[in-house]
Amino acid sequence: MTILEKAPAKINLSLDVLRKREDGYHDVEMIMTSIDLADRIELERLEENRIEISLESRYVPNDERNLAYKAANVFKEAYGITEGVHIRIDKNIPVSAGLGGGSTDAAAVLRGLNRLWSLGIPLEELAELGSTIGADVAFCVYGNTAIARGYGEKIESLPSPPSCWIILAKPDIGVSTKTIFEKIDVERLFHPQTSEILKALSERKFDKLCRNIGNSLEDITFSLHPEVMRIKEAMVHAGAAGVLMSGSGPTVYGLVEQQSKATRIYNGMRGFCDEVYLVRLLG
Ligand code: ATP
Repeated sequence: MTILEKAPAKINLSLDVLRKREDGYHDVEMIMTSIDLADRIELERLEENRIEISLESRYVPNDERNLAYKAANVFKEAYGITEGVHIRIDKNIPVSAGLGGGSTDAAAVLRGLNRLWSLGIPLEELAELGSTIGADVAFCVYGNTAIARGYGEKIESLPSPPSCWIILAKPDIGVSTKTIFEKIDVERLFHPQTSEILKALSERKFDKLCRNIGNSLEDITFSLHPEVMRIKEAMVHAGAAGVLMSGSGPTVYGLVEQQSKATRIYNGMRGFCDEVYLVRLLG
C-alpha cells in the first residue's frame, strides 16, 4: 500500500517576535496560511525496521538530517512501531526560502504515517509531536490559516483570508532562520499589528489585511541581503496590494485580488528575480 500526502508551503501574514526566553527560544506570534505550492510525499511500508528517504535535490539531505526522517523517527518511537518506512519526497517548494518546506514535509509524514499504520491519532497529538521537530511543524500539521504562539507550538485556527492571488519572488540565496534569530535585538524590533490582521480576517476585508501584514524579521534580512528589500520595492511598485517577506526570507510575496493584475505582476517580476511563482491560497 502507498500513502500520498500533499505538503503545502506557508506564507506569514505576520511574524512578531515578542521576547527572548530564558531557554534561548523566542516567544513569537505568527499568522500563517497555506498556499497551493506543495511538495508531494509518498510513504510505503518496509518489513525491515528502518527509515529510507529518496528525493532528488541538490540542497536537501536524504539521510537522518532530513526533517521528514526526523518526523518518521519520533513517530515510530512515540508509538512503538517496529516496521520501517520508505519516504519519497517530490520537492517543489524552494529550500531555505521562508516557506516552511522542511516543516511541511515533516508534518505530512506525521499525518501520512498515522494513515499508513491506521492509528487514528488526533491532529492535536500529531502537532504536539511535530513541535519537538521544528517550530513550524505544529502549524503545518493543521495547515489552512492559523495563529501560532509560544515558540510556534500553540496553534489556534483562524478564518482564511479573502480569496486572492499570490506572487512569490525568491532571489537566488538561502537564508538560515537561525542566523536571523541570532541577530535579533528585541528592544529595537518592528512589531506588526496582529490584532488588526485578526480583525481583517474575521471581517474578510482584503484591503485592511494588506495594510496590516508585517514581519519583525524583515529589517534584519534586508540589512544582510539588500536584494530582498529591492524585490519588495519592485513588487510594491508593480502594484501588489500587500507585500511582505515570508518567515526569515528571502521569499517576498505579493497579494493581489484580480487574476489579470496578478499575471501582469508575475510576468514583470520574472524579469527581475530568479524564481517567481503565481499561486493561490489553500482552504
Ligand atoms: P522556515 O520558514 O520554517 O524557517 P524555510 O522554508 O526557510 O523554513 P526549509 O526549506 O525548511 O527552510 O529548509 C531549511 C533547512 O532544513 C535547509 O538547510 C534544509 O537542508 C533542511 N531540510 C531538512 N529536511 C528538509 C526537507 N524535507 N525539505 C527542505 N529542507 C529540509
